[in-house]
Amino acid sequence: MIEIKQVSKSFKGHHALQSINLKIEKESTVVLIGPSGCGKSTLLRLIIGLSEADTGMILFEGMKVERQDFLNIRLRMGYVIQEGGLFPHLNAYDNVTLMAKYLKWDNNRIEERIHKLANLVRLPHDKLSQFPIQLSGGQRQRVSLMRALMLDPDVLLLDEPLGALDPMIRVDLQKDLKAIFQSLGKTVVIVTHDIREANYFADTIILMKSGQIVADGRMKELEGSPDPFVIRFLNAQIGMNND
Ligand code: ADP
Ligand code: MG
Repeated sequence: MIEIKQVSKSFKGHHALQSINLKIEKESTVVLIGPSGCGKSTLLRLIIGLSEADTGMILFEGMKVERQDFLNIRLRMGYVIQEGGLFPHLNAYDNVTLMAKYLKWDNNRIEERIHKLANLVRLPHDKLSQFPIQLSGGQRQRVSLMRALMLDPDVLLLDEPLGALDPMIRVDLQKDLKAIFQSLGKTVVIVTHDIREANYFADTIILMKSGQIVADGRMKELEGSPDPFVIRFLNAQIGMNND
C-alpha cells in the first residue's frame, strides 16, 4: 500500500534519513522505533507529503506522494503529530471537525460521525465543548485520534501518540488503540520509543538508528538478531523495564 524506495533526507548536511526502503502492507500495523533523533518523525512527515525526500520516492497505492498533492493525501491519511498538535484556540469539537467543515460536509453527517468517534475512542461527549488546556493528557490524545479518524482515512500515522502520558493512562489507551486498529482494519504506522509498546501493536517492528533501518520483523526475529545495536537496544529497554 505504501512503498518507500531509496529515500534520503538531509537537513543542512545532517543525514536524517539514508536510503530507506520499506513496504507497508494494507491493513498492517507497522511500528517505527529507535533512539531520539533517528529519523522516525521525519519518515512520517515524508509519508504524508508534508516534507519532500532529497532522493528516492514514496508511493501510495502506486502513486508518487508529492507535496502539491498534500490535500488529497490528507484525505486518505489521518495523522497524529508528536504532542497531539491540537489547536489551542479551538475546542475539541472544532478541532475534530475542522477538515470536514472545510470540505463542506453537512451538519448531520458531521454530527453522526463525531458521535460515532467519541464512542469509539471513549471520550465523554461533554468534553467536546472543552478546549485542549481543559482536558487531561489522555483525553487530548483521544481528541487527536478522533481528528485523525474524522474523514475515515485508509491510513493512520501516529507519532508517539502515548509518549506524554503517565503509565496507567497509557495502558488504558494502548488497549483502546489496539481494539480500534483491529476493528477498523486500517493501515497503521505508529512511532514509539518503547519496545514493549512496539511489540504490543506491531505486525512488523522497524528499528532505526541514525537515519537507517537496522532491523525489521516481528519481535522474535529482532530478538534473534546478531546485530550488536539491536541486542543493545533490546537489552537496554527490556532490562530496564524488568519488573
Ligand atoms: P525522531 O523522531 O526519531 O526523534 P526526527 O525525525 O525528528 O527524529 O529527526 C531526525 C534528525 O533530523 C534529527 O537529528 C533532527 O534534529 C533532524 N531534523 C528533523 N527535522 C528537522 C528540521 N526541520 N530542520 C533541521 N533538522 C531537522
Ligand atoms: Mg520524533
